[in-house]
Amino acid sequence: MKIKRFKEINVVLKSNRDIHWRVGLIYPNSYLVGMSGLSIKLLYHLLNQHPNIYTERVFFSQDLPYPRRSIETGKNLQQFDILAFSFQFELDYINAIRMIQLSNIPIHAKNRNQNHPLLIAGGPCITANPEPLSEIFDVFFMGELESISDEFLNSIISNKHQNISEIILSIPGFYPAQEHNKNMEAVITQNLNDVNYPIAQVRPVNKRNTKNLALNGYFLQVSRGCAHGCHFCLIGKIFRPHRERSFQCLQSLIDLGPKNTQTDFITLIGSSTADHSQIKEIINYIQEKKLKFVLPSIRIDSGEDILEILKKTGQNNLSIAPESGSDDIREKIGKKIRNTDIHNFVQKAQKYSIKQLKLYFILGLTSDPAKEANEIKKLVFNIKESYPDMKFNFSVNPLVPKRKTKFRKQCTDYQVIDKELDYLKRNLKSKGKFKSFPTRWAAIQAILSLGGVELVPKMIKVAEKGGSYQDWKRVLEQDPHDYYRNNYCV
Ligand code: SF4
Repeated sequence: MKIKRFKEINVVLKSNRDIHWRVGLIYPNSYLVGMSGLSIKLLYHLLNQHPNIYTERVFFSQDLPYPRRSIETGKNLQQFDILAFSFQFELDYINAIRMIQLSNIPIHAKNRNQNHPLLIAGGPCITANPEPLSEIFDVFFMGELESISDEFLNSIISNKHQNISEIILSIPGFYPAQEHNKNMEAVITQNLNDVNYPIAQVRPVNKRNTKNLALNGYFLQVSRGCAHGCHFCLIGKIFRPHRERSFQCLQSLIDLGPKNTQTDFITLIGSSTADHSQIKEIINYIQEKKLKFVLPSIRIDSGEDILEILKKTGQNNLSIAPESGSDDIREKIGKKIRNTDIHNFVQKAQKYSIKQLKLYFILGLTSDPAKEANEIKKLVFNIKESYPDMKFNFSVNPLVPKRKTKFRKQCTDYQVIDKELDYLKRNLKSKGKFKSFPTRWAAIQAILSLGGVELVPKMIKVAEKGGSYQDWKRVLEQDPHDYYRNNYCV
């Protein structure tokens, strides 16, 4: 059965005659979420490089039968030799477990045999803390795949009749999921210029998605990792060091990518894109080629020249991340930005015709969220008073402490944060649109970010019940916030 939900270009199709191995590339969230990021497009490209290995995508959907059917040929998860799950977000663990359950694949690795697919988990969540999934998966992959993707494909193809998990485990970055080794090392792509990058990216071409630029554009990753290392940030911690694609390499990707992806629109990707040492040259080159682009966010301390370039392109909205309203708190989290820098930035942004700014803040960076909320309010009021014509959106989110970061022991009080979010919502609504991530889900995310193997039976039960917040409450036999405080605040 072929699922015809989205008309797409650059879908990989292979003849059954040539296929020796089938890989299901699983994104345990919706098609729209998965296809709005680079990870699935990149992995799909890398894992289809071998002519005899066919990788198909499977996304999670609440509508049966989609949780267990591939986009390309409608295959059930049972019909693959390998299932490679990409985890970008801890809350997707429940979707993944539901997909396995709905496919009648035994959920515990120990209950599966050679007739079942091999289950591999990778992505930033796994690189940070794979333990909550350790009894479910067979193999974890820690890090970035490009530099070892050929080795991976060649090993499995030349060892069809051997124990495939043994073969894979000899490749750097792959670990047996049952081995509770906290010191697993991630494999990092040293030189981005040397590795394979998708220039003909799979994307939907449905008319109803034409307004979603992220879905319709060509993703150009200019850099990886981040040079700044804010103490709460996982990406700045696990994907080190900061690496750039050279201008020469990017020129060739700009020449080929949009043409082969049938688009004139480029989304520039990177943890801190505007920090690329040749960002001006890159943008000028894109413009010379008469292509459009978007730079979704820039750092508050980025030079005025970036704003000048954005003005020429007509981009009139931008996102920045002050994180806090207080200089002292920013100092504490490793962000060397002062409120005066934020004021100066808004002034420059207005000078260069930016009409709308989105400001990202985090609540819970200290043990006094009420004070944090007040500082945010003060900063926003000051800025709005100084620049009344500028439109603002505010995104204020509760901190989710992550393993491997300095904030793992922050012991966030989500009940207090909830009250402070309400306070900010009431007070900031006259200054701009206000959005925040629900604290109840932030508490569950914190449990999954910090927890270990003890979560396996609980997650399985939650998934069996459907995965709602109430299901979590019933299975944990207490409010998830209390469970987090009782178990992970040490
Ligand atoms: S600048 Fe952004 S990506 Fe870099 S470490 Fe800080 S929060 Fe993370």
